[in-house]
Amino acid sequence: MSPLNSETPTLPSGAGNDGQPHAKQDAMEVKARQQDVNGTASHSLWVDVNAHQEVKRVVVLGSGDFGLALTGRLVQANYQVVVGSRNPQKTRPRASGIGATVMQHEEALQQGEVVVMAVPFTHVASLPLQQLAGKIVIDVSNRTPATSSSLGSLSQAEELQALVPAARVVKAFNVLSAYALTRGNMGSKEVPVCSDDEAARRRVCEIARDLRFTPLDMGRLSNAQEVEAIPLSFFTEWRGGFFTSLAVFVFYFLLLLFEWQLCSHLQHPSNDWSSLNRLVSSNVSIACADTALTLLALCYLPGVLAAYLQLWRGTKYSQFPGWLDLWLKSRKHLGLLMLLNSLLHVILKLAGSPLSWNADWRRNAFVASGVFALVLAGILGLTSLPSVAGNMTWREFSFVQSVLGWFTLVLATLHLVFSGWDMLFKPDFTCYLPSNGQFVMVLPLLTLALKLPLLLPCVDSMLQNIRQGYDRTPSRTNNN
Ligand code: NAP
Repeated sequence: MSPLNSETPTLPSGAGNDGQPHAKQDAMEVKARQQDVNGTASHSLWVDVNAHQEVKRVVVLGSGDFGLALTGRLVQANYQVVVGSRNPQKTRPRASGIGATVMQHEEALQQGEVVVMAVPFTHVASLPLQQLAGKIVIDVSNRTPATSSSLGSLSQAEELQALVPAARVVKAFNVLSAYALTRGNMGSKEVPVCSDDEAARRRVCEIARDLRFTPLDMGRLSNAQEVEAIPLSFFTEWRGGFFTSLAVFVFYFLLLLFEWQLCSHLQHPSNDWSSLNRLVSSNVSIACADTALTLLALCYLPGVLAAYLQLWRGTKYSQFPGWLDLWLKSRKHLGLLMLLNSLLHVILKLAGSPLSWNADWRRNAFVASGVFALVLAGILGLTSLPSVAGNMTWREFSFVQSVLGWFTLVLATLHLVFSGWDMLFKPDFTCYLPSNGQFVMVLPLLTLALKLPLLLPCVDSMLQNIRQGYDRTPSRTNNN
């Protein structure tokens, strides 16, 4: 039996009842000893054989969002999980609710050979690191602005390895999010795994598979920087499609502006600029339609070019030029942006026809803010679907759900403001009551007003610190 086979997590329930598993393990030990005698066996085989008993047990240090989310998933996959916490008493109700045991860090570390470091990276040094020697230590941490600037070009996983040279550090699971883990909706998402210890890397790949993820062997720990960059990547794959779509839209918009508004003024100068009232209803709507059609063509064109190239080369086994490869890969994004433009066009048209767009700027602003709010709400809804969320990085997901979410609220509120402009700010209490619009405005405006102070840098940085583990309560401070 090879060391690789010995790692297969096949610890059966009721091991020892029929003597089978012990016999199997004895045979492995004998073989290991024989190989030792022959001078060919490595010590790691012994570690693997012994670790075989432990393979279903994992120690998770830290009972935060991610630690407990991963714990829940491990328990579902029949792992025994011991959570190491600074304050077991306080953590116990939450951890035992999902089927895990809680202990102090030192005690927890005695329970297993595979350790997940689920504490913010800035606090790692406060853990009993000497106990990690010889253990597989899974670094799940992601970079924050603070750690990025202090580490420079070194990844956090390499930094951890330097802190504990005797540990078998593996970078993994950082691309998952606590939210999606608890909701169990990540499908078979790819989990990049890298480590300088090959056996440890394989073990963590096994764990990832047990959790129904698809491990991606990224090789040595020096690749951890690349792995740590994944959750922070920001629509990198969308850039080409987005800028193409924007450029096409701007082109059509300017063309329409010239043809429909500016040209007539150049020919017959006058002071009547009322045609500008149709900018959104006509120009934007038509520019969206033009863009959608162009993007649709751009989705199909690279396939045709690739086919000609293959015909010319007479093979499909040679690489396309870089630009064509990139174009082919961006078809998914171009297609979705095409959909977005079509949607905008249809909605603007539908909204425009009964509403006499030629009215005034306020009427235009009313419909425009409503339409864009509706589209953004659609994006929010789409990205909350498991299949879409599972394919987004953490930064992309939080940008859409947070930044775009707030923007949607602002637009929807403006929509309301423009709709009842005359009524909203006039205390015209018909029947001694505020109007319907005034009622509806209260909650969104209150919410936006409460959000504004949180955007102040000093308040925001305090909030970020707390979210990264800073704890002011006396019990935690004493334990630190
Ligand atoms: P968190 O909610 O802030 O929890 C971290 C936990 O670490 C705390 O609950 C605490 O557990 C422990 N801790 C906090 N300060 C500590 C200190 N000074 N010394 C020792 N332990 C301390 O953080 P998290 O979101 O779970 O993230 C944990 C790690 O996972 C981070 O490195 C993060 O980058 C990574 N990660 C998180 C996510 C995510 O979606 N949240 C996704 C991928 C990776 P006790 O009170 O039990 O000691």
